[in-house]
Amino acid sequence: MNWKYVAWSATIASSVFDMYVKYRQWRLLNKERILEHDDNRIRSQAFQKNNMVLGIVQKSTELLINSLLICFNLHHKIWTATSSTNNRLLRQLMFLGITELIRALVQSSFEFYRKFVIEQASGVNKLTRTKFIVEQVLSVSFSTLFSLLVYAGLISIIERFGDTFPMVGSFFFMSAIVFFMSISPNIFWPMFYKFSPVPEGGLRNALQHLLEPRGFPTEQVFMVNESDKTTHSGAVIVGFSWNKSIVVYDSLVHKCSTKEVLAVICHEVGHWERSHLPKQLLNQGAQIFIDFQLFVYLYQSPQFYSAFGFSDMPIAFGLVAFSILTEPIQIVFNIQKNYVSRICERQADIFAATLGFKDELKSALFKVKRDTLRLVNTDWLYNLYSETHPTLQERQANLDSFSAVEVH
Ligand SMILES: [Zn+2]
Repeated sequence: MNWKYVAWSATIASSVFDMYVKYRQWRLLNKERILEHDDNRIRSQAFQKNNMVLGIVQKSTELLINSLLICFNLHHKIWTATSSTNNRLLRQLMFLGITELIRALVQSSFEFYRKFVIEQASGVNKLTRTKFIVEQVLSVSFSTLFSLLVYAGLISIIERFGDTFPMVGSFFFMSAIVFFMSISPNIFWPMFYKFSPVPEGGLRNALQHLLEPRGFPTEQVFMVNESDKTTHSGAVIVGFSWNKSIVVYDSLVHKCSTKEVLAVICHEVGHWERSHLPKQLLNQGAQIFIDFQLFVYLYQSPQFYSAFGFSDMPIAFGLVAFSILTEPIQIVFNIQKNYVSRICERQADIFAATLGFKDELKSALFKVKRDTLRLVNTDWLYNLYSETHPTLQERQANLDSFSAVEVH
């Protein structure tokens, strides 16, 4: 089998699928008829259409870069450029560092355009260019450093355990994710956000009343200055049982009533009560285990490496080529992961409704979607492929169905 053409076909097939899905969403938005006075929907439609076009251009660029890397054996040229060191692990990390930086550079360039052209024109972005660049440099540096540490551990495990590495490798990989998620709120987030406690007053008192009987201290609820960056709002629950906390965007508090903010926080508590994070991590662990099992069949095949110009068999290149080769499988995994995520979101909404916040959650969701310019319909395939959350209409219908159950 010519692995080079298999990898190229895989990246073409998955990129074309990605672009086709975005095209379907763009086409749906283009056909959608909106009442002339519905300014929120008109702005959302224009914003989302621009995002779809940018997404298609970005995917085309990534496909072009991958095609050049594959067809001209550029991975091998990068590998040759790292020959200055005799330490094999260090050399593999240098190779991975360069490929990661190429990917990060492309992504950051498109993110810059998205922020300062599309979001700027729609009034969503509030970041300055300098702040954006500083944040990108920080996040790319830390994520590259962290992923290189994980790669170093993984490569050592593969070398040590050989064909039996998937179980140990998955355990190591998931432990690294849990570790990263545990330290992020205390170490990385403060680099990007200012954290402050919920101010004394009505909201804090209501939170105490709501959370403390559930074993969730109010001191673990923080506000962050999202309004300095975007018009996005919402809340998120982070950490594990030993460091769990709820982070509320200040923009949510500015635009919503106290009961609406409480409704959103109840949704986040619902994720906690239903153990969504461990369940999603288990799901991710299973996907990683399958990936590693597939990798076992390839990484010791000399033909696999020689197809890309390699006479030796660096595991680092094996991992990079494998990630290209399995792009179509990652699409299936992604659809499954999003499906699970949407189930969790519905359950968390229902949890907030059981605490008596159904109507407040509905109105808060409308405000959040309105201010992020997401008041649009979505194509079913786009929804399946891209959306981690149900649409506004689906969430409102889900909340209404709760009332129906309650009445009968
Ligand atoms: Zn949620």
